[in-house]
Amino acid sequence: MISVRDAGDNDRFITILSPEMGLADISVKGAKKLGSKSNSSTQLFACAKFCMRERGGRYYLNSCEPVKSFYGIRLDMQRLSLASYMAEIIKFTVTSGQSAKDVYRLFMNSLYLLSEKGADCSFVKFVFEMRITADLGMMPNLLGCDECYRSDVTLCFLIKRGIFLCDDHMQSRVVYHDKYNVDVTAGMFEAIRFVCLSDMSRIFSFRVSDEALEKLCYISELYAEVHFDRHFKTLDFYYSVCAPETDHNEDNEQTTDEEI
Ligand SMILES: [Zn+2]
Repeated sequence: MISVRDAGDNDRFITILSPEMGLADISVKGAKKLGSKSNSSTQLFACAKFCMRERGGRYYLNSCEPVKSFYGIRLDMQRLSLASYMAEIIKFTVTSGQSAKDVYRLFMNSLYLLSEKGADCSFVKFVFEMRITADLGMMPNLLGCDECYRSDVTLCFLIKRGIFLCDDHMQSRVVYHDKYNVDVTAGMFEAIRFVCLSDMSRIFSFRVSDEALEKLCYISELYAEVHFDRHFKTLDFYYSVCAPETDHNEDNEQTTDEEI
């Protein structure tokens, strides 16, 4: 469930992300009635099995069965605003009537980590932004330096072009550092490569230092903004509720098994 709008006193109009159908708008009659079965399943970011009928090109909900509420997300403004930002990216990039299995899995895993595992918001944000951009056909060239293929040295990430260059080839190609051309260490390059290329079941299974994560988060956000050619308004809300000092101090109980 990626967006919910109330319609009248009792009804709701919801948008769901389905692995088989992509985005679908569904009208839910009587959703807000006390005791309504569809009430808990039509909460924002809840996961449910939906049974619906189509009439005149519109979908109407017949029944639904809750699978996971991700209730923890709605208890915390920062997590809620991050989930809203991810949902806005999905609404902008996923089309109706097309399979969206990878995006669905990415979003479900992100919501699960945010709601159930107390994962760091910046970490989830970096992985989500980088992976969804790559999955939608805008993967950077991850072979290493675009010229010599080295990846064991500091590389400059040319965010607009989606390539990396070592120092020598920055000079030979006369490219300068700026907002869009930023250095990454060999470890940060590996983190980007891991997130873009690993199997979906493993993409959250690594860790980086807080300092590296801060830079990676800047990079993935800019990369998504440049390649989707859009500024997402929910991102402003996310930053408005982010208290800088709470960013990295939370219990870091991510299911991590690799150090990069
Ligand atoms: Zn090079």
